[in-house]
Amino acid sequence: MPQPERMCIACRAKGSPREFLRIVATPDNTIIWDLKQKLPGRGAHVCPQTRCVSKGLEKKKLMHALRVEELSPFSVQEKLTELQILLRNQALNSLKIGVKARKVLSGYTQVQQGMKKGLAKVLVLADDISLDRRNELSADAARLQIPCVFLLSQEEMGSLFATAQRSCLVITDTGLASTFIHNFERYRTMKKEGM
Ligand SMILES: [Zn+2]
Repeated sequence: MPQPERMCIACRAKGSPREFLRIVATPDNTIIWDLKQKLPGRGAHVCPQTRCVSKGLEKKKLMHALRVEELSPFSVQEKLTELQILLRNQALNSLKIGVKARKVLSGYTQVQQGMKKGLAKVLVLADDISLDRRNELSADAARLQIPCVFLLSQEEMGSLFATAQRSCLVITDTGLASTFIHNFERYRTMKKEGM
C-alpha cells in the first residue's frame, strides 16, 4: 500500500515520508528530530537540505504545522548541529548492524577480494587512508560500478571491528548497502551545505 504523501513545510515539495526529516513536539513542547519517523503525534516535515531545515525551524511555521500553541525556546543552530550528529550516527549504525550481521568485510586484503568476487555493494574508505590505496580501491570501485564514499578516520573505523585501525570496508548486503547510502547521502548533503 502506498504511504501517504508528506509536504515540506519550508518549500512545500511533496513526496513519500522517506524523503523528509520529521520533527515532533514532546508533551512539554520541546521540538525533537524523529528520524525514524515513529514517534506518535503530529509531525512537521522538511527536506533534508540546510535551506529547508533552517526555514522549517522558524517557530511560527513549526507551531502552525505541529498545531501547538507554544514551543519551548530553541536555537536553530543547535538543532542543526544536533541533526548533523544524528544523521552521522544513523549512517554509522548501518555499518554497525552490518558488522554484527557479518555483512561487512574490512581491511585492505578482504576488501580487495570482496570486490573481485563481486560481493561488495558499497565501498567505504577512511578519510585518512593512504593515497596509494585510496587511488587503487576507488579505481576498482569505479570499474565495478560500486558506490565509493569517505567516512570516519582509520581509528574510528577500526573501533567498529574492535581493532586499532582499518582503512576500508565494504558492505556485502544489498538492502543494508542501500540503507547506508540513503543515510550517508543525507549526512553528506547537510555537511556539504555547511551546517
Ligand atoms: Zn523543502
